[in-house]
Amino acid sequence: MIPYLDLQSQYRSIRPEVEKAVLDVLASGQYVLGAPVEDFEKRFARYCGVRHCVAVNTGTSALHLALLAAGIGPGDEVITVPMTFMATVAAIVYTGAKPVLVDIDPRSWTMDPAKVEAAITPRTKAILPVHLHGQMADMAPLLDIARTHGLTLIEDACQAHGARYRGQTAGSLGDAGCFSFYPGKNLGAAGEGGALVTDRDDIAEQARLLRDWGQTVRYRHDVMAFNYRMDAIQGAVLGVKLSHLDGWTEARRAVAAQYDEHLAEGGMALPARIEGRRHVYHVYAVCVPERDRVRGLLNEAGVSTGIHYPIPIHLQPACADLGYGPGDFPVTERFARETLSLPIFPEMTGEQIADAAKALRSAVATLAG
Ligand SMILES: *Cc1c(COP(=O)(O)O)cnc(C)c1O
Repeated sequence: MIPYLDLQSQYRSIRPEVEKAVLDVLASGQYVLGAPVEDFEKRFARYCGVRHCVAVNTGTSALHLALLAAGIGPGDEVITVPMTFMATVAAIVYTGAKPVLVDIDPRSWTMDPAKVEAAITPRTKAILPVHLHGQMADMAPLLDIARTHGLTLIEDACQAHGARYRGQTAGSLGDAGCFSFYPGKNLGAAGEGGALVTDRDDIAEQARLLRDWGQTVRYRHDVMAFNYRMDAIQGAVLGVKLSHLDGWTEARRAVAAQYDEHLAEGGMALPARIEGRRHVYHVYAVCVPERDRVRGLLNEAGVSTGIHYPIPIHLQPACADLGYGPGDFPVTERFARETLSLPIFPEMTGEQIADAAKALRSAVATLAG
């Protein structure tokens, strides 16, 4: 079986470094925030090309705090996309604001800038594009719209560590960028983790306050806040893994390039290669008709796959009160029906890539024939 991802083989490649870092934390007696987390924050801020990084316990918390720190709350509207993980929209709902959805563009599978202005109302406070699968949204027009209308722009970069847009790193283009370090992400902790990065002093300061119970002085709580702190062990593991991220990203991009080659003539939509955007392939997805039958055939052929995501946000039972229905976002709905994520991880061999691609081509041909 070709696995969808293989975290154990990554662990084997860095085991001595990770074990030392974790044992040092266990011996230190300091298990929450502390030196390993501060060290990781400094290095991740530098990696993203911004002044501040605030490490938290999940990517969802990073989104929640970025929105709160930008002053978003009840009565406000935040524009995002229906093709994302639930957390993007949940974080908006946590603030009391209302998520307003706009469709994705059929080529990049990210927010369609041409659809945004029609969704702006006097209540709109922010735009929250998602760099889906590691492909960055079209930031230049989105930043223009944000500037013109005085809106905050927050990047959901939870799948896009190290992705770039015209030379700028994901998370550094908007007012704030949010990352998840869930184990399966391109940079993953040994458990849950997240961070927000920003050049804005006010957002960084507010996010720091909100992640740790609103305390500037111990046991004096200036605002009603949260426990969103990062564990020291996760900071230590992430510190080790950050040094390997660029190498892993290059390996993912090489896997994607081989898939592109094997699948070029297969008659299916592949991840777009767009001038000026560096895709980091958290997910390598194709679009195929009869996706579920293709997936079944691949499974029989020993190839594990995923679907990101089968049900768009506006059709999720939990989002019924947003008031959308079937047909509202046709590009997203078609994508949700046809998208299929192929195995991808840095340690994947050329043989595994060729076998997975061959199985996919033969499944598509079988169903077409
Ligand atoms: C993973 C992810 C999140 C949430 O991150 P958690 O660390 O799981 O809370 C948010 N948005 C997107 C697009 C994600 O992929």
